[in-house]
Amino acid sequence: MSDQKRNFIGGAWVAGDAAANINPSDLTDIVGHYARADAAQAQDAIAAAKAAFPAWSRSGLMERHAILRRASDEILARKEELGRLLSREEGKTLAEGIGETARAAQIFDFFAGEALRLTGETVASVRPGVGVEVTREAVGVVGIITPWNFPIAIPAWKLAPALCYGNTVVFKPADLVPGSAWALVDILQRAGLPDGVLNLVMGHGSVVGQAIAESRDVDALTFTGSVSTGATLAMESAKLMRKSQMEMGGKNPFVVLADADLDVAVDCVAQGAFYSTGQRCTASSRIIVEDAIHDQFVAALSERISALTVGDALDAETQIGPVVDETQLAQNEEYIRIGEAEGARLVIGGERLARPTEGFFQRPALFADCTNDMRIAREEIFGPVATVIRVADYDAALDVANDTDFGLSAGIATTSLKHATDFKRNAEAGMVMVNLPTAGVDFHVPFGGRKASSFGPREQGRYAAEFYTTVKTAYTSA
Ligand code: ADP
Repeated sequence: MSDQKRNFIGGAWVAGDAAANINPSDLTDIVGHYARADAAQAQDAIAAAKAAFPAWSRSGLMERHAILRRASDEILARKEELGRLLSREEGKTLAEGIGETARAAQIFDFFAGEALRLTGETVASVRPGVGVEVTREAVGVVGIITPWNFPIAIPAWKLAPALCYGNTVVFKPADLVPGSAWALVDILQRAGLPDGVLNLVMGHGSVVGQAIAESRDVDALTFTGSVSTGATLAMESAKLMRKSQMEMGGKNPFVVLADADLDVAVDCVAQGAFYSTGQRCTASSRIIVEDAIHDQFVAALSERISALTVGDALDAETQIGPVVDETQLAQNEEYIRIGEAEGARLVIGGERLARPTEGFFQRPALFADCTNDMRIAREEIFGPVATVIRVADYDAALDVANDTDFGLSAGIATTSLKHATDFKRNAEAGMVMVNLPTAGVDFHVPFGGRKASSFGPREQGRYAAEFYTTVKTAYTSA
């Protein structure tokens, strides 16, 4: 395929077997053909990153700052076009695609600044005449493996800190969304990265991802994706005694107390559970509702769901785009069947929807009369499906919220300062939201969770330095 978008290895664009990138809103629309790397090309990319590391890790701060700045500027200037590409290949709405692209630009801008702000400590030694310095250095070659649900923001929040602190990179995006990743790498290399500093190897997780995960020349591995793959990659990294960071699933609770502002609560859940087609690890999937407001809340939310416009991601009217692919849609449908078989009440949604184009359209689904031990309340569905669990009071709500294998994000709608304060303190999650959806986070503060949701240091903001640098303690006798 001559017009394929190629992998980028050691500063050269390298061809491979091409795969079609298909628009989930319209299966006749081919976004482009993208090369799939093989294991040997992944090895070449790792070797190139290793060779580039000594020079890049010693490069001037202004060089790194300027490259990240230029990348940020170009992403922002092209946010409409890149946002459209993102929505076309992934299926989130145009507003969401453009918003995500702007966020990627902000992340590069933030880390352009951080390149100039790396500090250490000077500490007095316990020995007279000796000085101690504590500094941070680049780790080495960083392997970056990303999922399909945030095709530009997740690559940005891994690539920007990796490059900022002087690491070199081998980057493998998800096979479903190579377009945004390719565009990002193209921007970064034109922004001035030396050859080998950033390498792109697109393709299958079992081939390219595995080659990265198994390599002793990859000094740190950062991954976002499913729990099962994350667990495997964490073990693989432990065997090699290599630094690793895994961002995995969620089964995020959102508590609605009787004293909540009903409109705020419905907004938070409609947004948190169904926008981006529910395909967010921070999506609200367990809605825990106090008895006194339960029926009113379920009725209002159901009405809101029935008014949501599901359709082509690129149509300006659309609020909920298609599911990403047939496999994910079939999984969502399977969970609808499981929920009904478990005795939950399907209040609305779950069915496939016909639209003028063939795509993976599904009406957002709401289950009520759920218990927290049902599979639909315990397993991550990763689609527009939410479960409502009725509880007697706040204490019961907190217990149910924390009774999960996951711990990424937790939210509450309440006007009680007492309950909001208690929830912030006692929710077992990495991120807590009060009167805000569980999804939708700032780019300059830590992101990550507890339990099976995350493993390793936090991502984003200044906390990113924990993973992308290693600490050195130097002693000097004058
Ligand atoms: P999802 O596709 O549901 O987001 P996955 O964990 O399957 O979650 O995929 C996340 C990323 O991990 C993708 O880039 C995928 O190609 C990659 N991946 C999948 N399996 C492996 C594996 N065995 N080794 C390394 N990477 C993998």
